Amino acid sequence: MTVRVLPAGGPAPGGVDESPPLLELRDLGMHFPITRGVLWKRQAGTVKAVDGVSFALRRGETVGLVGESGCGKTTVGRCIVRLYRATSGQVILDGKDIGTLGGPDLPGFRRRVQMVFQDPYSSLNPRMTVRDALAEPLEVHKLASGRGQRDARIEELLGLVGLASEHASRYPHEFSGGQRQRIGIARALAVEPDFIVCDEPVSALDVSIQAQILNLLRELQRRLGLTFLFIAHDLSVVRHVSDWVAVMYLGRIVEFAPRDALFARPAHPYTRALLSAIPVPDPDVEASRRRIILAGDAPSPINPPTGCNFHPRCPWATPVCAVEVPVIEVVSGGHQVACHNWRDLGTTLPLQGASVTDGNPK
Ligand code: SF4
Repeated sequence: MTVRVLPAGGPAPGGVDESPPLLELRDLGMHFPITRGVLWKRQAGTVKAVDGVSFALRRGETVGLVGESGCGKTTVGRCIVRLYRATSGQVILDGKDIGTLGGPDLPGFRRRVQMVFQDPYSSLNPRMTVRDALAEPLEVHKLASGRGQRDARIEELLGLVGLASEHASRYPHEFSGGQRQRIGIARALAVEPDFIVCDEPVSALDVSIQAQILNLLRELQRRLGLTFLFIAHDLSVVRHVSDWVAVMYLGRIVEFAPRDALFARPAHPYTRALLSAIPVPDPDVEASRRRIILAGDAPSPINPPTGCNFHPRCPWATPVCAVEVPVIEVVSGGHQVACHNWRDLGTTLPLQGASVTDGNPK
């Protein structure tokens, strides 16, 4: 049995919000066939990139989706924007299954759901000026009638992301990495979306520039009422922008919680390992910080481990972990975890009697 349902759970931190979700993933699966042979292709296996992922977002919220590279988080984002057609499960936007949308529905869907990529340089045409890059979605979706309206909208978009109107006549190579990401964000905003998948939008940037882009995204969310799925491999980045955090390991969500609960009371051993890797600014605290070093690399999604797929690397695995997939359990409120032993481990930091520095419990 896989992790089944991770609803948004309780209210977002700081407020009571009973509104229905804007976006829901229900038992989402994305399996890619592996083919062999040149002339006669035959299926030689399956990559389970996403395996039973469920969670929900309410309007105006940000869910941070975090995990190691290759865990399937980008595949989840691509299923949401329909760059991939999910092989099982559903993506529900405003109550409608996007898998059932037909040709005439797609332009409206593409307006509502946008994606910001890690590398804006590869998503911008080097031969197009910024004006042309921003004009393209306006023209495709018929959002500006006439040149005057189009240029006014481009100027507005540049202002929204902190660029000047004179930047419109320049080419992508004339900008810094941070400025190019601002252009990528402006392009996503051009069609007035409700929901944006931000796929590692700051991981290629210097730390000081990262903070500027994260602040910009927060500000845009506040002003425009946007909803974000923020994908990152770094929990400290996710902390700045998220209301909720979903931790993903080898195609499954292993923990889902309000941000502050996840950082203060992590329940899953993998989340604890990720948290233990975050440097602490205070040198005294940093000197005494205990890291949980996980043994080996994440297993291949072609042949995932039985039971809890984290068990080969988990310092707290018990025999049941190798045979039974843990079901999702409620820790408190919207905080949920998939681990057989979370009660025994507790949710305090550092781990009660089980801190490790070398991959083995002491
Ligand atoms: Fe570790 Fe077992 Fe929990 Fe998996 S179920 S995280 S192996 S303790």
